[in-house]
Amino acid sequence: KSVSIQTDTRTYPVFIGSGAIGGLSTFIKEAFPAMTNLMVITDETVRDFHLPALESELESIDAKICTVPSGEKAKTFDVYYQCLTFALEHKLDRKSLILAFGGGAVGDLGGFVAATYMRGIPFIQIPTTILAHDSAVGGKVAINHPSGKNMVGAFYQPSAVFYDLDFLGSLPPKEKRSGFAEVIKHSLIHDMNFYLSLKEQIHSLENIPSEELSTILTKGIEIKGAIVGEDEKESGVRAFLNFGHTLGHAIEAEKGYGEWTHGESVAVGIIFALELSRKVFGLTFEIGEFKNWLSSLGYQVTLPQELSHQSLLERMKQDKKSEGQKVRFVLLQEIGKPVLYQVSDELLLKELESFSKQQG
Ligand code: NAD
Ligand code: ZN
Repeated sequence: KSVSIQTDTRTYPVFIGSGAIGGLSTFIKEAFPAMTNLMVITDETVRDFHLPALESELESIDAKICTVPSGEKAKTFDVYYQCLTFALEHKLDRKSLILAFGGGAVGDLGGFVAATYMRGIPFIQIPTTILAHDSAVGGKVAINHPSGKNMVGAFYQPSAVFYDLDFLGSLPPKEKRSGFAEVIKHSLIHDMNFYLSLKEQIHSLENIPSEELSTILTKGIEIKGAIVGEDEKESGVRAFLNFGHTLGHAIEAEKGYGEWTHGESVAVGIIFALELSRKVFGLTFEIGEFKNWLSSLGYQVTLPQELSHQSLLERMKQDKKSEGQKVRFVLLQEIGKPVLYQVSDELLLKELESFSKQQG
C-alpha cells in the first residue's frame, strides 16, 4: 500500500506494509541515480533488532552506519554534532542520501541532520515505531535544547517514507501504547467512523493482525497527510494535530520524560481536552466508555496525583504553541470537528481540579 503526501515544498510516497522495505534499493537507484554516498542514522536498540534486515535490503549499496543513543538522548546538540562529523569524515556531499532508521527520535534527528548538512541533502524516513506513523510524515524535524523540546529544527520533507510493519513486533508494550495514542488522536480530530472501528476492533495492542494494523496506520497517515498537505508550516489547520498535546506535553515535562511516554501523556491530555470540549461546546461523546477502553489497553486515564496544577499551567503557557498569555487548546465541537480555543487560567485550574477528582 502507499499514500502520497503532497505539500507545497514536496510530494512524496509513504510505502506501508509488512515487507515494505523490499522496495527500498530499487527506489533509491531510481530516485537517486547519481547518489555518491549513503549514511544510515539509527539507534542502538533498532540497530540490534533490525539493522541486518535493512543491510540485506541495501546489499549492493555501501552504507555507512552512524549509531546514536536510543530514545530522546539522540536529540541533543552533541549527538547532532557527532552525526555531522560522521558525515564529513565519510565524505558525504550534496548528492548523498541519509536514511533515518528508527523511531521518532531518530527521525527527528536524522531529518535535522539532512536539513542542515551542506544546506540540505535528501533523506528517507524508515520508521520503526507506531508513533513514527505520525512523526515520519509531515517534515517537522528537530533536536532539543536543554530549556525545551524540539526548540531547534526545521520544516524539511523526506524524499520518501518506507514503513515496514514487520519492525513493530519488537516494540515494548509502553511504546505500542505511546504510538497508538496518536492513532486515536487522528481518529478523533477527523473521523468518527474511524474512531468507532478502532474501539470495536482493538481490545489489546499485542498481536494486532498485520492486515488490520496496516489499515489502521494507513488511515492515520492519510489523515496526517491531508492536514499537512493543507498547511505545511502550521499557520492554520496543522495546529489541530496538537489535540491532547497541550496538557500531554505538560505532563510529559513534569514527569521528566521517560517514566510516562509521549503517547501515554497525550492519552490523558486527550481525555482532558474531551472534558473541556464538553464544558465549552457541549460535545456529546461517551467519555466514560472511552476511558474504559483506554484503561483496558493499559493506559493511565487520570492525572498523576503528585503533579501540581499550577506547574502544569505554567508548562502549558510556555508551550511554544500558546499565544500570548492564555493557553490555546484544540477542542472538539464534535468528533471530527476541531477548533482552537483560548482557555483562561481560572477555567483551566478549575477543570484540572475537577479532572483530578474523577476516578479512573
Ligand atoms: P523513540 O524514537 O525514542 O523510540 C522509542 C524507544 O523505542 C527507543 O528506545 C527506541 O530505541 C525504541 N525502538 C524504536 N523502534 C523499535 C523497535 N522496532 N523495536 C524495539 N524498540 C524500538 O520514540 P518514538 O516514540 O518513536 O518518537 C518520539 C519522538 O518523536 C519524540 O522525540 C517526539 O518529539 C518526536 N515526534 C515528532 C513528531 C514530528 O512531527 N516530527 C511528531 C510526534 C513526535
Ligand atoms: Zn504527539
